[in-house]
Amino acid sequence: MPTATASAYDQLTARLHDRAVVDSIGTLLSWDQETKMPPKASGYRAKQLAMMSRMEHERATDPALGDLLAACAEDSDVQGDPVKATNVREARKDYDRATKLPTELVVEMTETSSLAMDAWKTARAKSDFKEFQPWLEKHVALNRRKAECYGIPEGGELYDALLEDYETGMRAAQVESLFKPLRERLTPLIAAIADKPAIENAADGRACPIPVQREFLNEIAGALGYDLDGGRLDPTTHPFCQTMGPKDVRITTRYDANNFLDALQTTLHEAGHAMYEQGLETDTYFGEPRATAASLGIHESQSRMWENQVGRSEAFWAWALPIAKKHFSAAMDGLTVESLHRSSNIVKPHFIRVESDEATYNLHIMLRFDIERLMLSGDLAVADVPAWWNDRMKTDLGLDVPDDRRGCLQDVHWSMGAMGYFPTYTLGNLYCGQFWDTVNAELPNLDASFAAGDFAPLLAWLRDKVHTPGRTYAPQDLCERVTGKPLSHEPLCNYLESKLTEMYNL
Ligand SMILES: [Zn+2]
Repeated sequence: MPTATASAYDQLTARLHDRAVVDSIGTLLSWDQETKMPPKASGYRAKQLAMMSRMEHERATDPALGDLLAACAEDSDVQGDPVKATNVREARKDYDRATKLPTELVVEMTETSSLAMDAWKTARAKSDFKEFQPWLEKHVALNRRKAECYGIPEGGELYDALLEDYETGMRAAQVESLFKPLRERLTPLIAAIADKPAIENAADGRACPIPVQREFLNEIAGALGYDLDGGRLDPTTHPFCQTMGPKDVRITTRYDANNFLDALQTTLHEAGHAMYEQGLETDTYFGEPRATAASLGIHESQSRMWENQVGRSEAFWAWALPIAKKHFSAAMDGLTVESLHRSSNIVKPHFIRVESDEATYNLHIMLRFDIERLMLSGDLAVADVPAWWNDRMKTDLGLDVPDDRRGCLQDVHWSMGAMGYFPTYTLGNLYCGQFWDTVNAELPNLDASFAAGDFAPLLAWLRDKVHTPGRTYAPQDLCERVTGKPLSHEPLCNYLESKLTEMYNL
């Protein structure tokens, strides 16, 4: 810690670094909880995590931090330095938001979350929405209060105040104007595919032992550019990526012993998140906004690009098939680049969001966004959520939802009280589609380099354009700087239509 005579800026960054230490210890505890912890340890782990989050909150809302930020805003040397100015601007934004929420509201939300999560697990197991309904009603009410504390942006709505936590600068009306034309183009595309013969998954039923899959995935993820000396891959039920320090970015995946594509796609996704984290300038600025991801949407754009645009391409399979054969030997007999390319691009409506393909996935997100917005505005009673959900699944995906477990009770997000989070998944796909257009215009030989196992040109481009700036630019400004255009639904639509038209002979 610098002395009191150190400049306000040095004192500010010392506090941010100190907070990052606390934050990263909490992350390590939660990583351990998901991957290694024995079940009987959960009670004490909850206490440890609660202590860490209290310490984080105290540091985030300390009035001394507010004083330092005020002093930095007055300092022309700080304001004239782009890195320092970014850090002060973004730290001020974080501080203002954290201090707008009264402690009693934060405590009530945390307590409600843990009780509601238990209720949700039971309700989901019994497929009984009524049991979860009072908790969802409570979360909606708490989220309304939270949004009011944050304040509604001029001309905006309650939802905007919540969305700001995940996708800064984005507004619900704008999400709607991006999602509406996307939905109008995706629904006929998906309906046309449903009329065509289904593509058989050529990887199904091929026994690939999990330890061998792990070696295969480590080789693939390492070759893409995920630095495994500063990372690792572990199994979990719900895959994720977490950063525990400037040289410690870990991912997890889930395995199907009879279909290696599942773990592969999940690993490519999480490795995409990890490569973004590893591309932030954490050696110099760890804990500072300058070395923090721009938003959840931008984060998701990175995971989706490696999972979808790269990992579902023919060029990728031209390179990866021999590697798969080396690891899995006889289990790969008869598989070709073409059969794996086709198997990676199957479009089939599914009740479950996380099981869904690249095209139908977005319709799941739009449904959730609309429901959240309607619940928050009071235009949809929580009691009517299941009926609304099921109608929409029928309209958009042609599916009759058999029970709430496979319907509106499937996601953990609402039980945690997280509202405004869902749209960032599809926003990520949109950012990704647009970045992909630009990178292919600037680097026209990407396919050839993928087929040769050279992913460095793509990663270098992403590092330079998307990763390194951290939070220097707001997500939509970053998109416009990188691509020359405001965010649009069109690149993603064009990419999906052209790929799937060919794949399914539409
Ligand atoms: Zn993701």
